[in-house]
Amino acid sequence: TLQVAMAFALLSSLYGDFMQALGASLRIFDLMDRKPLVSNENGEILPLLDGHVEFKNVFFTYPSRPETPVIKGMNLTVNPGQVVALVGPSGGGKSTIVSLIERFYDPDSGTVLLGGRELSTLDPHWFRQKISMVSQEPTLFACSIKDNIAYGKVATDQEIEEAAKQSNAHEFIMTFENGYETLVGERGVRLSGGQKQRIAIARALIMDPVILLLDEATSALDAESEHLVQEAIDRAMKGRTVIVIAHRLSTVRNASKVIVIEKGEIAEQGTHDELLAHNGVYKRLVLRQLTAGGMNFDQLDINSIQ
Ligand code: ATP
Repeated sequence: TLQVAMAFALLSSLYGDFMQALGASLRIFDLMDRKPLVSNENGEILPLLDGHVEFKNVFFTYPSRPETPVIKGMNLTVNPGQVVALVGPSGGGKSTIVSLIERFYDPDSGTVLLGGRELSTLDPHWFRQKISMVSQEPTLFACSIKDNIAYGKVATDQEIEEAAKQSNAHEFIMTFENGYETLVGERGVRLSGGQKQRIAIARALIMDPVILLLDEATSALDAESEHLVQEAIDRAMKGRTVIVIAHRLSTVRNASKVIVIEKGEIAEQGTHDELLAHNGVYKRLVLRQLTAGGMNFDQLDINSIQ
C-alpha cells in the first residue's frame, strides 16, 4: 500500500541532510584525531585472510572528547561473505565502528579481530591492503586519473583499465582527450559526484580487498550516475565481505544482517524482515520518520515494496 511505501521511503531518508551536515563537520576532527598509521614492526601477516570481523566487548572514546564514550561494550560478528548493514540515528557510532576496523583508532578496551586475530597484532600495512573503503565523498588527488586509481598500489595500465571498466568509469574517462592521463582537481577536469565515486570504486577494486567498507551516499546523484554507481558497487561487493553504512532501502533489504546502532550500542540486529516483524527500534525508526516528514523517494526502489 502507499502507506507502507511511504514508510519505506522515509526509512531511506532517515540518514538525510541533517546527518550529512553533522558528518561534514566531524570529518575535520576526524583527521585531527586519527593516529598516523599505527606501526607494528612485528605485526603478523596471515597467509590466508577470510572476511571474518569481530568486536569483543569494545569500548571507545575519542581522545578529544574524553567525557563522551562513543562505543560502549560492543560485540558484533561479521562472517565471511556476509553483507552487513549498519543503520541507526546520526551520531550513534556507525562511522566509528568502521574506523576501528580500519584501525584508525584502537579501542580503550576490548578487541577488534580480523580473520580471528586481534587487529593490533597484525601488520597494519598488510591488512590495510585487504580492506578497502569507499566513502560518500571520496578524496581525489590533484594528479592524473590513472594515479588516482592506482593510489596505494603499483599497478599496470591494464590493471588500472580493468578496474575502471568494472567500476563503470572507463567510458567517461575515455571521453577526455588525455584519457587516463587527464589531471583532476583544480588544474584539471572537474568530475561530478558520481564520477568521483566511480574512480573511488576503481581504486578500491584494484586492491582486490577481502573486506569492502562502504558509506552509501545520502545525497541523490543524477539518475544516470546513480545507476552506474550502484551497478559498480554491486559488482564490487560480489565475493567479498561487506560492511556498509546503509541508506538505501534496497541495501538493507538485501543485507545478510542489519545492525541497528544507537548511542554506541547495538539496539537490534537481524534481517530487514525479521526486524520489521519485531516491534522494536528499527520499526520505530521507520514510523518516527513517517511523522517527521522529509521524504526522499529518489533513492528508493518503490517497485520492490510489497
Ligand atoms: P552519522 O550517521 O551522522 O555519520 P554515525 O552513527 O556514523 O553518525 P559517528 O560518526 O561514529 O556516528 O559518531 C559517533 C559519536 O562520536 C558522535 O557523538 C560524534 O559526535 C562523535 N565523533 C565522531 N567522530 C569524532 C571525532 N573525530 N572526534 C570526536 N568525536 C567524534
